[in-house]
Amino acid sequence: MNIHEYQAKELLRRYGVAVLDGHVAFTAREAAEVARTLPGPVYVVKAQIHAGGRGAGRFREDPGGKGGVRVVRSLEEVREAAAAMLGKTLVTKQTGPGGKVVQRVYVEDGCDIARELYLSLLVDRETSRVTVIASSEGGMEIEEVAASHPERILRAAIDPATGISGFHCRKLGFGLGLSGPQLRSFEKFVTAMYRAFVELDCAIVEVNPLVVTKKGDVVALDAKVSFDDNALFRHKELEGLRDEAEMDPKELEAVRHELNYVALDGEIGCMVNGAGLAMATMDIIKLYGSSPANFLDVGGTATAERVTQAFRIITSDPNVKAILVNIFGGIAKCDMIATGIVEATKTLHLKVPLVVRLEGTNVELGKKILAESGLAIIPADNLADAAEKVVRAVKEAA
Ligand code: ADP
Ligand code: MG
Repeated sequence: MNIHEYQAKELLRRYGVAVLDGHVAFTAREAAEVARTLPGPVYVVKAQIHAGGRGAGRFREDPGGKGGVRVVRSLEEVREAAAAMLGKTLVTKQTGPGGKVVQRVYVEDGCDIARELYLSLLVDRETSRVTVIASSEGGMEIEEVAASHPERILRAAIDPATGISGFHCRKLGFGLGLSGPQLRSFEKFVTAMYRAFVELDCAIVEVNPLVVTKKGDVVALDAKVSFDDNALFRHKELEGLRDEAEMDPKELEAVRHELNYVALDGEIGCMVNGAGLAMATMDIIKLYGSSPANFLDVGGTATAERVTQAFRIITSDPNVKAILVNIFGGIAKCDMIATGIVEATKTLHLKVPLVVRLEGTNVELGKKILAESGLAIIPADNLADAAEKVVRAVKEAA
């Protein structure tokens, strides 16, 4: 689950992570009121959307104008900047061409920046450790730095048994060229960040840029926090931070039904049980010359009801030209899945070709149910056969 920059900063502040004063605003007037409570004389108005690259982004309504991060010098200018953003569509490198409508702005104190650095924390799957990544190249996308100057990326993997210690911070801090009070400020920052990361069960926290101010303080100027969805049940207090307007409606529906769904931009809707099998299904669709419209793992306990909900989400995507169901009946039985498929096909008046591959417990019974349903369901014997048939069905329909 992703949250807005202002929410991330509010949370991190509670852990002692240094952030500037600021507050969210939903209207231009509120933005000016927020600014009145800040020290000034420089204010920054920042569009709140779940995507980065806002500074360099442009508003669809004003392509020749300024971006989604504006530095201004009076309450009147704060109001104007907020008015120019709210309700408008901001297109950045990360939003895709469709952009995102700005519903809230963050009004923050202006910062005297001496240096812009990069800092992130994530779970490194290779070492199975929370890893701190730092770079002197603040403001740039870290993927670009990794490609052009890999030596400018510093890493520290933290052993969960000992947690973070001074030497991790000093190793990174020296690598960034920090010394004296800057180094102490950095150490405090990274230590607080690590505690927040672990206690909140984050998946990634990215601060880009992390700045060193002219006074020598280390402060988060931007903050992107993403929580591990599998741990959200431990943090009921975070649920209220979810901004449904920022989510794909299909993904939102999937969350409500506890389905593991990720919207993609291909044409073949996939319904699979098991994440690994779902990945393999997407791969083989590619191999046969088409592309998946989604990732969907209905889970090991796929019931007829879940199958119907999954179909509803898949078919609400106008890009879907055919559906491939690939189910291995281990815990779930194939006959029960087949019944679910038949019911869903009837209730939803399915109009696109449907290829079904079933394997496992009660597979013969499942196939019989599909064959005797009188519906135009295309059976497949194995994964390759299923992929070939579904890709052919799409090509023939086109
Ligand atoms: P994004 O990454 O979405 O473009 P950032 O929050 O990183 O948004 O802001 C972009 C740039 O704007 C920063 O790199 C920084 O130079 C400047 N900036 C952001 N917040 C402030 C601030 N409070 N004071 C001064 N400059 C800022
Ligand atoms: Mg940024």
